[in-house]
Amino acid sequence: MKKIIFASKNKGKVREVEHILKDLNVHITSLEDINESIDIEETGSTFEENAKIKAKQVYDKFRIPTIADDSGLVVEQLNGAPGIYSSRYAGENGNDAANNKKLLNELRKFPEPHKAKFVCAAVYYDGKKFYTATGEMKGKIIHDKRGSNGFGYDPLFIPDGYNVTSAELPPEVKNSISHRFKAFEKLKEMIS
Ligand code: IMP
Repeated sequence: MKKIIFASKNKGKVREVEHILKDLNVHITSLEDINESIDIEETGSTFEENAKIKAKQVYDKFRIPTIADDSGLVVEQLNGAPGIYSSRYAGENGNDAANNKKLLNELRKFPEPHKAKFVCAAVYYDGKKFYTATGEMKGKIIHDKRGSNGFGYDPLFIPDGYNVTSAELPPEVKNSISHRFKAFEKLKEMIS
C-alpha cells in the first residue's frame, strides 16, 4: 500500500483527513505517528504558500509523498484578517480564547452582520509536482459564544444555511460542510 505523510500533529485533523481519503487506498502516517519534531516556519503570505512550505519541508526530510494544509478565518470587515495569522491572532500560538476575544474586540466598531469565511488550502507534494486545492465555508461571526464542539473560532461562527454555530453542529455535520472537507475532497480527485 502506498504511504503518504500528513504534515500535521493535530489528532482531530489527522482523523478527519484520514476519513476523507479512506477510499484512496493509501496508508497515512502523521508527524505524531513518526514522533519526529520538525519545526516548520510558516513564512508564506497565502494559505496555499504556507501549505506548500509545510509539504515540501516534510517531503525533503522523509522523501515520502506528503500532504499538508493551512487554514484560517477571513473576515470581510477586517479586510481579510485574521487570515493566515488565525492561530496566532492574539499573539500566542493556538490560544483560542484570546483569539476569539480579540476578534470580537476588533469587530465591535462594525455593524452586523459580520460576513466571514473559513478557508483551507490542501497540498500534495511527491517531490516533483505540487497538487493544490482550496475549500471555503461561508458564514458570519456572532458576538455571543455558543457550543463546545470543534475548536478555534467555531463558537463564534454561524455557517450560511444554519442558525447554530459550527461548535454546536455535530462533528460529522461540520466535517461534511467544512472548508477542510471541500479542499481534501478536491485534492483526492486530483491524486487518485
Ligand atoms: P491551521 O491550519 O492548523 O494552522 O489552523 C489555523 C487556525 O485557523 C486555527 O488555529 C483556528 O484558529 C482557525 N481555524 C481553522 N479551521 C478552523 C475550523 O474549522 N474551526 C475554527 N477555527 C478554525
